[in-house]
Amino acid sequence: MFRIGLTGGIGSGKSAAAAYFRELGIHVVDADWAARVVVQPGRPALEQIAQHFGASVLLENGTLDRAQLRALVFDNPAERAWLEGLLHPLIREEILLSLARSASPYAILESPLLIESGQHQLVDRICVVDLPESLQLERASARDENHPEQIRKIMAAQLDRQERLAKADDVLDNTADLAALNRQIEALHQKYLLLAAAAQE
Ligand code: ATP
Repeated sequence: MFRIGLTGGIGSGKSAAAAYFRELGIHVVDADWAARVVVQPGRPALEQIAQHFGASVLLENGTLDRAQLRALVFDNPAERAWLEGLLHPLIREEILLSLARSASPYAILESPLLIESGQHQLVDRICVVDLPESLQLERASARDENHPEQIRKIMAAQLDRQERLAKADDVLDNTADLAALNRQIEALHQKYLLLAAAAQE
């Protein structure tokens, strides 16, 4: 299975790009979805987290209180390391299972922290959705009604534009409108079909 990692900073247009790849019939796995699945009720990780941090990390309906968990590991590197040690291998396994279920000619892993988390090791190529940081800030603020300061903090915790671009095999420039993005995706899709076919030989 030929696999593409799709990444980009907050507000870059990953979801928009992923939606168009889906329209073209490509199976897209969302790393954020995998991260939520592994802590669903009934999964062993949720039990382990509740044992480690106490029942205060569970909501009344038995699901994970993400805000509470974030607060508990915030500023606590040891607890954060424990949590990541538990979850990262499980997320990785969930992603691989989901990628393997793909019936499309190639599959995409959409992940905001593809490179930062090491998930790029699960893919054959890295596709970066790129735009100037000022525009990233503008679009992310408009979408989330988040304070720009909050968006800046998230941007600071992610790779910066140049570091991300340095890892890219392919770049989608999302500075212009969605039609322009989709045209680039169509061209890339043709390239990926060829690469996927070549990889099968
Ligand atoms: P996040 O990592 O925060 O989830 P993302 O990379 O998935 O972000 P999107 O949600 O796809 O980014 O896009 C961010 C915002 O910018 C959305 O409101 C989206 O509708 C808008 N947007 C995306 N591409 C364009 C474009 N080419 N022109 C104008 N607006 C766009």
